[in-house]
Amino acid sequence: MISVEKALKTILVNFRPLGLEKINILEARKRVIGEDVFAQHNIPFADNSAMDGYAVCHVDTKGATQDKPLQLKIIEDIPAGKVALKKIKKGEAARIMTGAVIPEGADSVIRQEDTKKNGKTIIIYSSVNRGVNIRFAGEDVQKGELIVKKGSALRPADIGMLAALGKAFINVYQKPRVAIMSTGDELVDIETNPPLGKIINSNSYSLAAQVLECGGIPIMLGIAKDKKIDLQEKFKTALHADVIISSGGVSVGDFDFVKDVMGEIGNAMHFWQVAMRPGKPLAFGAIEGIPLFGLPGNPVSAMISFEQFVRPSLLKMQGHKKIFRQTAKAVCAQEIQKSAGFKHFVRALVKKEKEQYIAMVTGDQGSGILKSMVIANALIVMGENETRIKKGAQVTIQLLDDSLSQTESFHL
Ligand code: AMP
Ligand code: MG
Repeated sequence: MISVEKALKTILVNFRPLGLEKINILEARKRVIGEDVFAQHNIPFADNSAMDGYAVCHVDTKGATQDKPLQLKIIEDIPAGKVALKKIKKGEAARIMTGAVIPEGADSVIRQEDTKKNGKTIIIYSSVNRGVNIRFAGEDVQKGELIVKKGSALRPADIGMLAALGKAFINVYQKPRVAIMSTGDELVDIETNPPLGKIINSNSYSLAAQVLECGGIPIMLGIAKDKKIDLQEKFKTALHADVIISSGGVSVGDFDFVKDVMGEIGNAMHFWQVAMRPGKPLAFGAIEGIPLFGLPGNPVSAMISFEQFVRPSLLKMQGHKKIFRQTAKAVCAQEIQKSAGFKHFVRALVKKEKEQYIAMVTGDQGSGILKSMVIANALIVMGENETRIKKGAQVTIQLLDDSLSQTESFHL
C-alpha cells in the first residue's frame, strides 16, 4: 500500500500532453492553446472616434467659450465603417460617428452634446485639447505583441481577442479518448429493470460525466463479467483509446480479476492499493501500453479515485498547467473522528457565511452511499495521521464545484 502522494507521483509521470489539432475558435473554450499568438496588426487598426460628434483640429477650437462661441464649417459626414473623402482644413469640421476613422487634418473630436448645429455649420462653446475623444491605433494591442500565450486555457475574452486578430482556427491540445468499463456479474444496464441480486451499472455514467467535465471523450465499453476472459476481451476493444478506466474487480474478492489481467505479459501493474478512504483498492498499470486505472467498484470510491488521480492525468494530457482542484480553508461544523493510517476524503457541503467557508459533513460516509456525494460540493481532507477534527476547527477542503452557489437549495 502506498500513500496518496506517492500514487499521484507514480501516475503523473506516465502522462504528457497529447498532440495538437486545429479547431475553430468557436470550439475552443476551455481548450488549451498549443501555440503563441502574436498580433498581426494594431487594435484599433487606425485612430478612430470614441464619441458621436465632430472631428476637428484642436487649434481651431482655441478661445471658444460659452460667451464667445466659435463656428466651424461641416464639410462631410463620416458614419462608422466609412472613410473620409476630404481633409479637414482651417475652420472646418466633419460629423463623425463612434468608431469611424479620424480624417486627415483632424486631431480631436468634440462631443455632439457640446455643440449646436446651425445649418452647414456647428457652434462650439469650449475648446478641446489634442487627442480628446480619440481611440488611438494600437492602444489596445500593438502589432507584434504576444497576445495569447501557448499553454493558456482559453476563456471567452481570449476567444474574442483571437477573433479580433482574425484567427478563426488555432492549434489546441487534443482531448484524451477515455475507454470506460464496468466489471461485475451483479451489474445490469441502465434500461434493464434489475432482478433481485442485480444492480444497475451507474459507475460507467458517473465516470463518463467526470471525463466530460474535465474535457475528455468517454468511450463506453459497457459491462464485463467477472471472468478473466471477458475482461481480456473487453480490454482489447479499448486499445484505440488514450486511457482506460475500469471500475470494480480490484479488491481481494474471489472474482476480482482486473489485477490478474494487469499482471499478464504485455501489461503492467505499477501499484495496487492506496492509503486512502474511500478508494483503497485502486490499481494503476497499463494494458498493452495504454494506461489503465483500475478503480474500485463502490460508486463513491470510484468517483473519488477519479477526482484524485484520473482528473489531474486527463488535464495534464490536454496541456493544462492547473491540474488540481482548488483548495481552501473552512471551519468544520462538527467533530470528525477517524483511525490513523489512511488519508480521508470526507464528503462535505460547504457554504460561505460572513466571508468564511463552513464545511458540513453530508451524512453517511460509506463508500456505496452516493447520495452524500450528490449533496457534497467539497471534500474535507484529513491527513493519514490525523484522527480527530474538533467542531469549529480549521480544515482543508478541496472544492469540487467551480462555484458553490449551485447548492443553495440543500439543507442538512
Ligand atoms: P467490487 O469492487 O467489484 O467488489 O465492487 C464493490 C461494490 O461496488 C459492488 O458490490 C457493487 O455494489 C458496487 N459496484 C461495482 N460496480 C458498480 C457499478 N458499475 N455501478 C454501481 N455499483 C457498482
Ligand atoms: Mg465486482
